[in-house]
Amino acid sequence: MPAKVAINGYGTIGKRVADAVEVQDDMDVMGVAKMKPNYEARMALERGYALYATTKDALPKFEKAGLKVRGTLDDLLKEVELVVDCTPEESGYKPAYEKAGVKAIWQGGEEHSLTNFSFNAAVNYTEALGRSWVRVPSCNTTGLIRTLYPLDAHFGIAKALAVMVRRATDPPDSKKGPINAIEPELEMPSHHGPDVQSVLPKVNIHTIALKVPTTIMHVHAVSVELKRATTAKDVLDVWRRIPRIKFFRGAEGVASTAQIMEVARDLSRSRSDLYEIAVWEDGVHVVGNTLYYFQAVHQESDVVPENIDAIRAMLQVEKDGKASMTKTDASLGIGA
Ligand code: NAD
Repeated sequence: MPAKVAINGYGTIGKRVADAVEVQDDMDVMGVAKMKPNYEARMALERGYALYATTKDALPKFEKAGLKVRGTLDDLLKEVELVVDCTPEESGYKPAYEKAGVKAIWQGGEEHSLTNFSFNAAVNYTEALGRSWVRVPSCNTTGLIRTLYPLDAHFGIAKALAVMVRRATDPPDSKKGPINAIEPELEMPSHHGPDVQSVLPKVNIHTIALKVPTTIMHVHAVSVELKRATTAKDVLDVWRRIPRIKFFRGAEGVASTAQIMEVARDLSRSRSDLYEIAVWEDGVHVVGNTLYYFQAVHQESDVVPENIDAIRAMLQVEKDGKASMTKTDASLGIGA
């Protein structure tokens, strides 16, 4: 029997997680809960998802908009074993999930303390087995963990610094900025460093972040002091064993995030998403014990495969992390 999953919040992350769940053979989307009867609610229905209004108060709004709903979030929770919460940060549904007796996954907008367990499939799948509450860290944090974890395992990380150039907002969001500005995050370290440590507690990392007026990707400039000397080739060989890292070459004309997303469009995946972390192969340099590299993160989609693996681990549909990751990756075209 496929695992029964609900999606609460059907925006940038929710709609992608829903579609990724639907292409697995061991889990099903039983319904999606929406707050507003907007175009995304209509699209959810058109894609064949059962639609639920988040609250009772919202029900008449859906009826007025001519959108057929099956009930409220509370009704949906009765049908499922697990809910993937893709609502904005601090929306506060934990008591509702507790009351319904369902497990829940939250996204990176939430604090680690909400679940006391932050997940990355390569790092701590086994620790997630059977858990009730799991958080998948943010797109940036997931991106840093993907490349830093293998480095720590193979060479040891003495110290890392990541300077993160962040997209201002997502492509469909026309309300937020900056429009013509660069906005440094004045907090030091930015929240990403401690967030990486919520999954990799022993990694000594400092992060600095600034927002720029772009919508398509984040870029990280990373310098890592390794515990032993190596070469750029050895580092690339280690990363090449990881399917959720994809390589691009500036020398081949992929010199910016614009061209990375053009390659993503050429891959013809769902929504042109790039689930992998993009590393510029010819931007990897080693000087002494220090490694320098650039990576780019498709913020709308890199956390999607992690959500699928988290579902499998929490519901113990698959006890082996590598097997889950292989299955997820094959279903989404990762590594192809
Ligand atoms: P979004 O705004 O695109 O979608 C949020 C969805 O929740 C929408 O359907 C919205 O109608 C609904 N919603 C809004 N307020 C609600 C409420 N109070 N109760 C129930 N539903 C409500 O947001 P998103 O970008 O998908 O972000 C969701 C989570 O994923 C956040 O924790 C965010 O930090 C995290 N995240 C976002 C990105 C990204 O780049 N967009 C990347 C990784 C993680």
